[in-house]
Amino acid sequence: MIEPVLIVGAGPVGLAMALELARYQVPVRIVDAMTERATTSRAVAIWPRTLELLERAGDGLSAELVGLGNKVTAANILADGQPLARVPLGEIETPYPFVLMLPQSETERVLLAHLERRGIQPELGISLADFTQEGETVTATLRHADGSEETARYAALVACDGAHSPVRHHLSLSFDGDTLGSDWAQGDFHLSGMPFPVNEFATCLHAEGPAVLFPLAPDRTRLIVGLGPSTTDAPPPPPDMAGFQALLDRRGPGGITLHDTLWSTSFRINERQVENYRVGRVFLAGDAAHVHSPAGGQGMNTGMQDAVNLAWKLALVLRGLATAPALLGSYDPERRAVGAEVIATSGRLTRMATLQNPVARHIRNAVMHVMLGLAPVQHALEGELTETAIHYRDSPLNGISWGAGPRAGDRVLPAEGEPPYGAGDTPRFTLRTGPEVGPPPGDLPAALVDPAVRPHEVAGGIQLIRPDGYLALAVAEGEWEPIVAYLHRLGPA
Ligand SMILES: Cc1cc2nc3c(=O)[nH]c(=O)nc-3n(C[C@H](O)[C@H](O)[C@H](O)COP(=O)(O)OP(=O)(O)OC[C@H]3O[C@@H](n4cnc5c(N)ncnc54)[C@H](O)[C@@H]3O)c2cc1C
Repeated sequence: MIEPVLIVGAGPVGLAMALELARYQVPVRIVDAMTERATTSRAVAIWPRTLELLERAGDGLSAELVGLGNKVTAANILADGQPLARVPLGEIETPYPFVLMLPQSETERVLLAHLERRGIQPELGISLADFTQEGETVTATLRHADGSEETARYAALVACDGAHSPVRHHLSLSFDGDTLGSDWAQGDFHLSGMPFPVNEFATCLHAEGPAVLFPLAPDRTRLIVGLGPSTTDAPPPPPDMAGFQALLDRRGPGGITLHDTLWSTSFRINERQVENYRVGRVFLAGDAAHVHSPAGGQGMNTGMQDAVNLAWKLALVLRGLATAPALLGSYDPERRAVGAEVIATSGRLTRMATLQNPVARHIRNAVMHVMLGLAPVQHALEGELTETAIHYRDSPLNGISWGAGPRAGDRVLPAEGEPPYGAGDTPRFTLRTGPEVGPPPGDLPAALVDPAVRPHEVAGGIQLIRPDGYLALAVAEGEWEPIVAYLHRLGPA
């Protein structure tokens, strides 16, 4: 019998982790120190790649999220109230050509419901007090709200315990980076007079700092404002509604009236990343591993994708379907590279939006006006924001690449109407072959490969696709040997 995986933290990343492991038939226990779930909106953007990956969980999960949210397909950029550029966000190849605006509390509610359908209920009011590890076992002590403690053994511990991660501290892992020297505030408001359609963002650049509008519904928006350089130890409280209104009037296109505040908060931006996402059988995911600017709204998305990346590898190993150390060993390099890229990109966007020097701002505006009108630049930005450009080309798990198709580590989309890669109750690799390729050889390890070979258009080539939809390797027609060897290396046969 497999010992359970202990997931510490039932935020969006812990819930996604639990859901992925549970559907792959790995017993999980998920605990959280909070005694009640948060009801505030927090992260409001779900990007296409996250929806593609969550769809693999089945039960219409992504469709349900999409049905609840607002689909945004373009971003407007204004400078001093005047239009500067318009970037399409819906022109990438994906079943979800939009960014979904949905309050985090709703995203968590849906994840929770899907988890409960699999018979798993996060245990609230229980915090991780201590843990040790020996070999392939983690022994953890949990403290209940009444002060009582229990100690048990787990096959792994996944720390989804947020930016202040007690697990990270316990392991003495560094979390290097900076706190940016500026203050920010955000709030959700009912409003009227919005000059943009409900399916478009607006970033309003201004000498004082930016004001960004994320439409949640026709009469409801998330407004984020820069408050300027920090002058106090802690961020000041957020402005009241009149304060937000005054900032919006000065920086925005005009004519927008805020009616009431649903929620507001102030914050500072931290850009930090843990030195290693894995220590033995302890893994860090989500804010526990990386924090960055909310510009681009990537935090929660990147965290949930950490969970997706780890879950299929853990499931294969814990179920005894694969034994190669490289499998779990690939989690840190693959996800640390992605986290570093997200920190760099969101940091660049933030610094560009907060330029103070008038000459630098003038140059920025001129460059953005020209560059963001160019299709290749738009496409590159779109790929980064939507997280569809994420790849694992430098992964130690990669085999060889072949021909002009995707390279090992690239995202591969299933054909229209096909199920997503990695769907179902066992993480399996998928074979795609061109029309001239015969059936696969009989010595493929059956437990690791979906028996349904799928067709693709690249004549002659054979692709092996990982359970998270990235290319493991590609070979020419008839060259089954590297594929057989790759799968046997993961072992056992
Ligand atoms: C006020 C606010 C506004 C935000 N706004 C945005 C935004 O606009 N855009 C954006 O992209 N992101 C935003 N974020 C960040 C976003 O919410 C996070 O990126 C996301 O929640 C990360 O998810 P997570 O599951 O990794 O961590 P969290 O959601 O932080 O969950 C961690 C969980 O671990 C639990 N925990 C901690 N220690 C223990 C322990 N010892 N034992 C048991 N449980 C423990 C905590 O109780 C918590 O529930 C915001 C965050 C906050 C707080």
